[in-house]
Amino acid sequence: ISYRRARFLQSAPSLRECPDDIGAEVAFAGRSNAGKSSAINRLTENKKLCRTSKTPGRTQLINFFSLSENQRLVDLPGYGFAKVPPEVKKKWERHLEQYLAERRCLRGLVLMMDIRHPLQKFDETMIQWAAQCDMPVRILLTKADKLSTGQAKNTLFKVRKDLQPFGALVQAQLFSALNGQGLDDLKEQLDVWLDA
Ligand code: GDP
Repeated sequence: ISYRRARFLQSAPSLRECPDDIGAEVAFAGRSNAGKSSAINRLTENKKLCRTSKTPGRTQLINFFSLSENQRLVDLPGYGFAKVPPEVKKKWERHLEQYLAERRCLRGLVLMMDIRHPLQKFDETMIQWAAQCDMPVRILLTKADKLSTGQAKNTLFKVRKDLQPFGALVQAQLFSALNGQGLDDLKEQLDVWLDA
């Protein structure tokens, strides 16, 4: 699949306003600042597709990007944003949970975590929600370039160990939007999900 073909399709404030639930979709999620926009921009080789500096308002939309008529990438709202009031956070958690549980064309979830702060509370929540509906998850330990090769590997092993209870459903890999580490692994997984 050519991820360079990704084009902005539409924003949806809630599940009701999403594009028709047909074809195949892969969703990207992560706490604010985890490196989600940078990962999507690197994948699509498009610096402008996701803005890397965001306002809370913008992050509260589900953004759809089309790859072809029946294949989409979905940018889910960043969560854990300190400035967002608790009611808004609650509402967005409900939207995310509903999206994961009810979106039939959703094939997999890519969950971004800063390699220096992996498996925070919200990451665990997302993994739980995905596991509850048998949704495969690929975790990207982002900004791997910030650690030495040895440190990055150690973190990867630790994270994989913590994820063992989920079996093959939840997998983890290293990623760097800066130098492209892990990009081919990610593409391979996306190809499988979107072509199935
Ligand atoms: P988002 O809030 O999850 O969309 O995060 P961004 O993509 O905006 O990234 C947050 C910050 O981390 C920005 O300052 C990025 O430049 C930086 N960043 C993102 N990915 C990488 C990476 O792979 N390596 C390094 N060194 N910095 C990164």
